[in-house]
Amino acid sequence: SKEISGNSYHFFSEDMNTRTLETVQLENALYKALDRNQLLLFYQPQVDVTTNKVIGFEALLRWQHPEKGLVNPDQFITIAEETALIVPIGNWVLQEACQQLKRWQQLSGNHSMTMAVNLSARQFEQNNLYETVTQAIEEATISPECLHLELTENLIIKNTKTTLQTMKKLRAFGIKIAVDDFGTGYSSLGYLNRLPIDTLKIDKSFLHDIMIDNSHAVIANIIITLAHNLNLSVIAEGVETKEQVQFLLERNCYLMQGYYFSKPKAGAEITEIYFSIQR
Ligand code: C2E
Ligand code: CA
Ligand code: CA
Ligand code: CA
Repeated sequence: SKEISGNSYHFFSEDMNTRTLETVQLENALYKALDRNQLLLFYQPQVDVTTNKVIGFEALLRWQHPEKGLVNPDQFITIAEETALIVPIGNWVLQEACQQLKRWQQLSGNHSMTMAVNLSARQFEQNNLYETVTQAIEEATISPECLHLELTENLIIKNTKTTLQTMKKLRAFGIKIAVDDFGTGYSSLGYLNRLPIDTLKIDKSFLHDIMIDNSHAVIANIIITLAHNLNLSVIAEGVETKEQVQFLLERNCYLMQGYYFSKPKAGAEITEIYFSIQR
């Protein structure tokens, strides 16, 4: 029956309306954001601690909202994925990140500098992902080995035949594939030697309290050992302290990313800090 008491109905419907209105407004605003150039990329350095050199960057999406200011992706990625807006946004991210990498490679003379780009499952569902990615690389004239695609474990596991085929084609082209947030998904390890993967990325949640929570230290340890034994690269994200750097180095994990080295920053700021001639 649809008979609901006045009070609870009122409460329920008001709550739903607010949520829906907010979501719709956000969707509309996001839809325009791309056209209005309100989306931008921040970049976070990835460091080889044995040489203390920046080997590359991860591109991280931001939204310069006219009223809300700088908005982080956790506020809008889910909506972008639900509405499939992530597809045009993701294409833009790929192009922009490749172009930026090219400029930094030219400024530094280091043509093996890398760029990591996050991809959503939705993008893999498009049958032209391969073309989109290879076109971004060719337009920027960077070498394919320099583009690292970060895919979450859940995307990889949920893989359809098409996902797997696309991953294989991209890898055959030379592009590197990293498993993002490794260890946080609900998966068996069986896929690791079946799938075309180059890198495991240790999620920041495992590093966060390795110093106080031994079980996290054990997991971080196992991921590093696993990567070494399977001949995969391993990079740690969310590195914030000297102790974490030490912990990772002792276990031969020397590729790192995190606030300890640098927060994600706008492209112009990265240029000034790392690639400016006046330095
Ligand atoms: P992620 O790929 O796991 O990226 C790492 C997140 O950790 C980033 O958050 C980064 O700013 C943050 N982080 C980096 N170093 C540290 C640290 O030392 N400590 C802590 N506590 N955090 C650190 P951000 O930029 O807010 O991005 C959140 C998520 O949004 C990303 O998680 C990624 O899943 C998604 N995302 C970002 N950009 C894109 C994009 O272009 N496309 C897609 N599909 N997803 C994106
Ligand atoms: Ca990532
Ligand atoms: Ca992560
Ligand atoms: Ca993530």
